[in-house]
Amino acid sequence: MDRQHVAALLNYAATVDSRVRRLMATQEQAAATIRSWAEALAHIPAVAEAVDWDASRAARRYYEQANGDRSAQFRPIEPADLLAAWAPFRAELMNRHTDPLPAVDPDDVTAWRAELLGTRYAVAHGQQPPSEHKALTSDPHPDVEARLSEIGSCIPPHVRGELASYRPGRVAREAALAAGQPDPLSVRCDWCQAPKGQPCRSRRTGPDGVARSNARRITPHPSRADLAAAQHRQEAAV
Ligand SMILES: [Zn+2]
Repeated sequence: MDRQHVAALLNYAATVDSRVRRLMATQEQAAATIRSWAEALAHIPAVAEAVDWDASRAARRYYEQANGDRSAQFRPIEPADLLAAWAPFRAELMNRHTDPLPAVDPDDVTAWRAELLGTRYAVAHGQQPPSEHKALTSDPHPDVEARLSEIGSCIPPHVRGELASYRPGRVAREAALAAGQPDPLSVRCDWCQAPKGQPCRSRRTGPDGVARSNARRITPHPSRADLAAAQHRQEAAV
């Protein structure tokens, strides 16, 4: 708060409290009071929109609330009352603040530290709003969307190439599709009941009737391939 803010605040307090009015009786007295208040309140803002802080409102509240020995009934408002009122607002600002990445060269440790501390200081004193993490509110990046629509996968082509040896089933399926052959996974498997789009599974059952394994098969069951081929021929004939 600068002297103008302090003068406006004292002017308000003087209208409701004759004890403050006496502090401002002569021009010299008023100037001295404003000077000492402005010094004490230099580090708190007159207004901080981010947390809805307004020093003049805090002063009014002092006169509206009976609050123990801090009550207007016992003594006129003092800078300490405004400092105490500001403290929780300041804490709220710092709770909301996340240090943004400084713009300076990260190798310049002094400048980096100075910028971090400077931003925190500015937030704590209401000079700038807290920097909050942005929530994810939009769709994927346009690049990712373009790739998805082009190749139907968000994995870049060269990575898919390198992954090929680890996913032989998928590679075989894609090769078959590219060659115009029927896709066994386009139909449900009657043998292992694998649903459409899911690979066949090998089920091994122990003598006690409990399943020992349920592994994915790289090649679909032959009956499924036959069924898909039959459907493929039917579709081709139509
Ligand atoms: Zn199957």
